[in-house]
Amino acid sequence: MSTNSLSFAFRQRCESIATEQRYLLKKLAFDPLPAIDLANILGAHLQSTEQIGIDVDALNELMGAQNWSAMLFGANPPMIIYRPDHSLARLESDLMHELAHILLKHPYGRYDPATGKISKNSQHEHEADYLGSCLQIPRRGMQWAAQLGLTIDQTALHFCASTQMVEWRSRMTGIRLL
Ligand SMILES: [Zn+2]
Repeated sequence: MSTNSLSFAFRQRCESIATEQRYLLKKLAFDPLPAIDLANILGAHLQSTEQIGIDVDALNELMGAQNWSAMLFGANPPMIIYRPDHSLARLESDLMHELAHILLKHPYGRYDPATGKISKNSQHEHEADYLGSCLQIPRRGMQWAAQLGLTIDQTALHFCASTQMVEWRSRMTGIRLL
């Protein structure tokens, strides 16, 4: 995940958004935030590929990738299609990334007839990665985990995140866990 292009002000804004969305859901700053709850208050519809009977191979083609877990469609209301066959931690991370695009009001990726794929703006992708990670594990959550003396594994379990995500947030925030 490259964050070099992200300003300090943007990173601060992401932490504020993560706190604000928890507040709107009557959660504490270090509470876990399930992506489904956030999707609900943002008015985004989550549908699994199974629910809508869509062919995953066709979506792989459209995305130009096979390792996606969720993708956002600019419908009204916005719709996120996800694959139910990935781990919950991976899915939560990918759903947060898509919800971050909505929160940051990024324009939707457009289908490019020249390549047959959906074009993406790499700066927006980095921003959504960063905000998504803050939504899943905010700085206040890392501070809370450190104060309680939680391990990386325990913190990952609390936030329904992967251990790699916790380690990454530890590097980004400079907050070390056991
Ligand atoms: Zn994206």
